[in-house]
Amino acid sequence: MNTTRTGRIRAGIGLGGLSLGAMLLAGTPMQAAPALPTPLITAGMERVVDDPPPDFVPSESDYVVNHEAMETPRGVVGQRTVLVVTGRWTGGSNINPTTVRNTTIADSATSLRGYLGAVSQGKLNLSGDLVADVDFGTKPQTCSTSTVRDKAVAQARAQGYDRANYDYLFVAMPYLGSCNWGGIAQSPGSWAMSNGTPSLSLWVHEFGHNLGFGHGSTFVNCPSNGSEVSAPVNCATKQNGDYGDPMLGGGSKEYPANYRLQAGWLTEDKAKLVARSGMYRLSTLGTDGTQLLMLARSQGWPRLTLEYRQPSAYDTFSPDDNRVRGVWARYSDMARTTTKNKQLDGTPETGTTQDPTLTQGKILVDEEAHARIEICSVDRTGAIVAVAVGNDSPAYCPGDFLIGEASSGSGSALTHVRWYADVAPGTKLRIGDEVTLTGMADFRRSIGTLKNSAFLDGLPAGLEATQVSGGLAWDSTGKYWRHDAGPGQYLYQVVVRVGADAPTQWAPRFKVQGYSQPDWRTMSSPYQVGAADFLIGEASSGSGSALTHVRWYADVAPGAKLRIGDEVTLTGMADFRRSIGTLKNSAFLDGLPAGLEAIHVSRALAWSSTGKYWRHDAGPGQYLYRVVVRVGADAPSQWAPRFKVQGYSQPDWRTMSSPYQIGADDGTPHPEDAADKSSLPSRKTP
Ligand SMILES: [Zn+2]
Repeated sequence: MNTTRTGRIRAGIGLGGLSLGAMLLAGTPMQAAPALPTPLITAGMERVVDDPPPDFVPSESDYVVNHEAMETPRGVVGQRTVLVVTGRWTGGSNINPTTVRNTTIADSATSLRGYLGAVSQGKLNLSGDLVADVDFGTKPQTCSTSTVRDKAVAQARAQGYDRANYDYLFVAMPYLGSCNWGGIAQSPGSWAMSNGTPSLSLWVHEFGHNLGFGHGSTFVNCPSNGSEVSAPVNCATKQNGDYGDPMLGGGSKEYPANYRLQAGWLTEDKAKLVARSGMYRLSTLGTDGTQLLMLARSQGWPRLTLEYRQPSAYDTFSPDDNRVRGVWARYSDMARTTTKNKQLDGTPETGTTQDPTLTQGKILVDEEAHARIEICSVDRTGAIVAVAVGNDSPAYCPGDFLIGEASSGSGSALTHVRWYADVAPGTKLRIGDEVTLTGMADFRRSIGTLKNSAFLDGLPAGLEATQVSGGLAWDSTGKYWRHDAGPGQYLYQVVVRVGADAPTQWAPRFKVQGYSQPDWRTMSSPYQVGAADFLIGEASSGSGSALTHVRWYADVAPGAKLRIGDEVTLTGMADFRRSIGTLKNSAFLDGLPAGLEAIHVSRALAWSSTGKYWRHDAGPGQYLYRVVVRVGADAPSQWAPRFKVQGYSQPDWRTMSSPYQIGADDGTPHPEDAADKSSLPSRKTP
């Protein structure tokens, strides 16, 4: 991780206090820094108290709130400079200037400069000057940070370094026991101090305060059944505990993605606010692509933020560590002067927060935010998450059924597309059912003016696309959906509903177009229309004008023999072409006789005020209704539901074909009975 940026650092050393150690340092590459002589102690002077051990433990009160700041700094990018001042109390020993340089402005991975270059992905270039061997005066009895800073600034100016010429001031103060902190900083702000010999993790933490990052905590003991975690309601709180956040005990691990957005290092295209249900790709932190997914929350924490990490020079996790195998979830406040995080412990059952991420197959349910997040898959490049928001039903993860795959280039694999369905190929679907197709395009590169393109063939009559992801646009020919794109990874989603006029089989077609422009390919057929769809009733309201039209289907043949406990699903499809004046379109379904129980009624149908039927009033459009009826012990021996549609001409109630008879007395064993009997173990009679 050592980078060589020769000439970018102004490696100035205070002229007035030039020491032997400092001379050896000047111009020496940090990765080959020579061992320094022990700092000199002036003979005859009392030696001051030794430094505390270098392990940096931030204290709760280690930052000073900058009340003049209106918001966290954004756009901390480009060249920024820091004046670093260190030295000794009068008669004491110097803080080792090599350590100060190596942890601040040295051109190496051990410095804050190296750290910021990495976590900002090259967007922030921190350099500066080190003024060493400063005499901070007689060791004071009390802790006054401003007095020490004033001294540092004055001493630096005396040596030719004007603090006003720098964006930041870092003071590596000789150890002072009366200060109850190891480091302190202004937040948001422009100064930071260490109390004794500093470490990289100290500067990472304190500079985080300069950027407006605050202290946080972790949600622990959240309700969980092992695969599903519910948060944040009914979780407990533990201070710190986030070992991937330097502000919460994470040492010099990388700053989380939401901090990077706040600092201006993650551009908008790499941070996505999830407002709609669907599948989202989360790229590994520090790579190209979307590195931060955010969900807006209206209660409590304003954001839920998701990121995914892999081992790096700073994220020194072993490859099998939970923290590089799953999606890291945090509740975040990114709207105020101080950015704050509260980590979610995604494995509350283990009792440690060292395994916080949601690994493949895990589900986070945030009822307060009406959000459900399922981790579909993870690999080294990122994670796929299925997000459902609002009252949407759970989004499906892809990968259950691969139904088509194509590469455009021979050998070079320029572009690659895979399509998944959420039902098995050949599944028997019924009218009203939906199939979700998920396409995953991996466009490795473009060549010259040739663009990568993904195409999905249009739909035959009777199939309706109820959702098409933003990436796919309807082609000008009106025959297919298309997406032209540069190199990158893309997700497509198309939800297809089976209508009454659907063909009995359907196999979608697609192609990917890159270097070699392959032909259309046929995917595995995702469905067949099930044989058990029976039209049992139909009505139009208008003569001639066909203003409104409703058809009802059952999933058992009319007259089928059902038994107690069996279920019949009725599916209604209303086609309300238009309304006339104040007359509304309405669909009605008669109520149930005693002994029949509706165990599912679709939301569109509401129980009428008379309590006698279900009703749906609606404007022009196509609507789907579903009612699942279970046969109870008191059911009539036959049942034929009734319905009507009301539009222009208000027709009467009509009776559908009887969907069932109770078949108790025909003497024929029910197939399930036969199966039950054959599977019974033989039993000896006494
Ligand atoms: Zn702190």
